[in-house]
Amino acid sequence: MTDGITDLSRQALPEAITTEICVIGSGCGGATAARLLAEAGHDVVVLEEGRDLVGPERTQRDRAMYDQLYMDRGGRASHDLSISVLQGRVLGGGGVVNTCDVIPIPDGVLHHWATKYGLEDFAPEQFERFTDDALGDLSASRIPESLVNSANNKLRQGAEGLGLRGEVMMHNRVGCRGLGTCMIGCPVHAKRNPRMVALPKAIEAGARIFTRARAVRIDKANQELKEMTIRTLDPGGYREQEELKVRAKIVIVAANAIASAQLLLRSGVGNSHVGRNLLLQPQLPIIGVFDERVAAFDGVPQSYAVTEFEEEDNAEFGLWGYRIEGIMGTPGIVSTMLPFSGAPGMQNMAQYDRMAPSLLLAPDEPSGQVEVARDGRLTIRYEQRDNHRERLRQAAEVAAKIYLEAGAREVLVPTSPPLVIRSTSDAKKARDLTFAPATAPMISAHQQGTVRFAASERDGGADLNGQVYGIRDVYVFDSSGYPTSAASHTMTPIIASSRMLTTKLLTRI
Ligand SMILES: Cc1cc2nc3c(=O)[nH]c(=O)nc-3n(C[C@H](O)[C@H](O)[C@H](O)COP(=O)(O)OP(=O)(O)OC[C@H]3O[C@@H](n4cnc5c(N)ncnc54)[C@H](O)[C@@H]3O)c2cc1C
Ligand code: SF4
Repeated sequence: MTDGITDLSRQALPEAITTEICVIGSGCGGATAARLLAEAGHDVVVLEEGRDLVGPERTQRDRAMYDQLYMDRGGRASHDLSISVLQGRVLGGGGVVNTCDVIPIPDGVLHHWATKYGLEDFAPEQFERFTDDALGDLSASRIPESLVNSANNKLRQGAEGLGLRGEVMMHNRVGCRGLGTCMIGCPVHAKRNPRMVALPKAIEAGARIFTRARAVRIDKANQELKEMTIRTLDPGGYREQEELKVRAKIVIVAANAIASAQLLLRSGVGNSHVGRNLLLQPQLPIIGVFDERVAAFDGVPQSYAVTEFEEEDNAEFGLWGYRIEGIMGTPGIVSTMLPFSGAPGMQNMAQYDRMAPSLLLAPDEPSGQVEVARDGRLTIRYEQRDNHRERLRQAAEVAAKIYLEAGAREVLVPTSPPLVIRSTSDAKKARDLTFAPATAPMISAHQQGTVRFAASERDGGADLNGQVYGIRDVYVFDSSGYPTSAASHTMTPIIASSRMLTTKLLTRI
């Protein structure tokens, strides 16, 4: 045990753990709730199936870091393998592996949720203070010019050349050294994420944290004292080991939009909305290839976004349209996204230092479902809708023109077969992209939906307090509750909404 953190893969198990409040998941939603509840004097236990991996153990090596920091070791995918579903699995959750972009829920979306879905606590004037607090937790600031690397500057240069609106984004780094490996953990702890902020404060206030502790079922959900079945994992997190009971009066599920629904379904808890309405927000990479060295791996990977085509107050969906964000991955992730293997794959990776990649982000409508088989096996079913494919085609055409404007030799859309664009007239070939299942390296990093918040049980899986319908004192405090996409990035929204829901809970306990 170190500093309030007990690694159950290495400790002798207690017979059972009893607490007032049990929080499942230590990411943005769970860590925030645990901190506020512990600071208010409540007895809090946090269960996390990942391990605590800090400092020099963050080796910046792809294989070892995906293995230890990601759900299913980075291999999680939708049912037809069309979308790679990336999620953190480590103490601190997705904030440990994310690219630090800080984007609050836009007012247009908050207004949409309050008026169309009856989520009155999300009305902009009510919610503003929770966003402000979340920005404080994150030490949010505009990324300084010195950290906007040459690849992001290529995107900016091309967008400005075409007269398109864009911005240098906000982030939650302090003391960043531009090492570029944000997606496999920051070895110098420059990210002000839940592992560095909320969890230390929760521990200081007396919360007990257990790692390598996988919650597999919530039993006795309607009794005063609920009982969670926990399976400990081995130190590498590969196999389940022993079983342990954790008893609590209040259970807060914040395991992320997929695992939270998975746990409720596995426990037979909640109504027929649980698992439905999944949003995956699939993103498509596109790569400008230059004659000169760009060295996109050097510096902050994601700092500039083209926002010209983003809608924040669409009448039907709230957030809509699309945006284009500069990005860079480590060699491991880039090579697996390129549609080449063998000698052509090596040739393409030989120009890794001349690549300036972007992600095309288009919000989606709820069109997926989390399913759990009798043996606990998870299926993430997702149907990409035509309107989503169409916005990605438009985004690919625009991104190609931007890179060509910035001087790219060619632009690669890494589909199978690949699309190579060498002139602005070529760019319209993007209109023919089919995005047939499993032909494009789609990535999901912002999962939402699955236990929708609603004013009535008829319309959702949890009420306006986040309490799962039909079950007293079992709550969902992560993005599972969002009826539509909150923002183009979900860390800040989840911290803010967990703050709001926890503040409400504190008035009742
Ligand atoms: C690669 C990547 C890049 C991203 N970039 C950005 C970005 O730049 N900006 C941004 O705003 N957002 C970004 N996001 C999204 C953001 O990080 C997530 O939305 C956010 O971390 C989710 O918070 P959460 O609390 O819901 O869940 P998580 O942070 O995923 O935490 C849930 C935790 O619960 C644990 N858990 C799951 N099931 C169980 C169980 N049964 N028992 C015990 N523990 C369990 C998991 O191991 C995990 O640690 C990114 C995400 C990824 C993966
Ligand atoms: S760019 Fe490097 S130093 Fe900065 S946060 Fe990312 S990993 Fe850490």
